[in-house]
Amino acid sequence: MELFQLSRANDVRDAVIAGAASQTAQQGAQVRFLAGGTTLLDLMKLDVEKPARVIDISHLPLDRVETTDEGGVKIGALVRNTDLAMHPLIHEPYAVLSQALLAGASVQLRNMATTGGNLLQRTRCVYFRDTAMPCNKREPGSGCAAMGGFNRMLAILGTSDKCIATNPSDMNVALAALGATIHIQGTKGARSVPIDDFYLLPGDTPERETVLEPGDLVTHVTLPPIPGSRSLYLKLRDRASYEFALASAAVAVNVADGRITRARVALGGVGTKPWHAHEAEAELAGAVPDEASFARAADAALAGAKPQSQNGFKVELSRRCLIHALIQVTQSV
Ligand SMILES: Cc1cc2nc3c(=O)[nH]c(=O)nc-3n(C[C@H](O)[C@H](O)[C@H](O)COP(=O)(O)OP(=O)(O)OC[C@H]3O[C@@H](n4cnc5c(N)ncnc54)[C@H](O)[C@@H]3O)c2cc1C
Repeated sequence: MELFQLSRANDVRDAVIAGAASQTAQQGAQVRFLAGGTTLLDLMKLDVEKPARVIDISHLPLDRVETTDEGGVKIGALVRNTDLAMHPLIHEPYAVLSQALLAGASVQLRNMATTGGNLLQRTRCVYFRDTAMPCNKREPGSGCAAMGGFNRMLAILGTSDKCIATNPSDMNVALAALGATIHIQGTKGARSVPIDDFYLLPGDTPERETVLEPGDLVTHVTLPPIPGSRSLYLKLRDRASYEFALASAAVAVNVADGRITRARVALGGVGTKPWHAHEAEAELAGAVPDEASFARAADAALAGAKPQSQNGFKVELSRRCLIHALIQVTQSV
């Protein structure tokens, strides 16, 4: 692990100023905020992340879950994953989010991990985490060892010829389905970004994963109200717990008079970013909730899939995962 400077932010303003100042003071120096530390410290030990300065934000007052004036929910960036999953404003009203959180990592990790840190966790691509191997995300221009290498776990949607790494988060998939908004504080003020625009596709610059600028702090996430909808998260993986998704589906569906009036759908484990499946939502709107419409929606969601040498199975796995999630969520409507 490389030497780094550690400081503690007293408040949000302090964190943002410290973050931005570190970037200006040392050309190319990286600053990282420390929340739960469950991703950052691992990557620092592996020499994948080498920030010159780490700013501890873990005690900032961003740990509340509350209702918004619009009837939705505001989630502080430092709300722990366990607390969020079990919170009465989330556990049943946004079951898909609660289930996604509880499907991730282990109890101990969820007790430490925060909403902001989960949003910004890095890919689990083995080549990204191994500094002996080329990786365009870690070292731009060095190449991508995953193409033609060990890519069984990697993405089939949103890939480029520079990167096929998957966004590993379960929480983010639920947030994408729910149409969450990410609220950011930077040196130029506060701004809000819909989750669909928050994550960037790898394209030619896979090292840039989000729209965050140096020093930007995520302060909170808001969810819109989803009245009358039933929601669910289904995660398929190599073992039943403590494992990242091979494929997952987050769905929230409203049904009235035997028709789907609104469907929210996102896929996990298959995209270079949490994959909001707009095409599937369009197929489902107004459809009869039966297996035939679910299959059409799943086909639409996976139509653009580009499998690699070892992950062709993910197309069918993801398709079946979505169909099964839709069957389950509409079963007792
Ligand atoms: C063994 C293991 C298994 C796991 N399995 C799963 C799984 O199955 N599913 C899953 O979804 N996740 C899984 N995870 C990942 C886990 O969910 C993340 O490590 C965790 O959510 C990160 O949160 P944190 O608060 O610890 O982030 P940190 O490690 O503190 O930070 C992560 C990154 O986010 C940045 N950051 C943190 N907060 C902010 C903020 N407010 N504003 C701006 N930047 C910020 C940090 O600078 C850093 O770059 C696993 C992790 C491990 C170690």
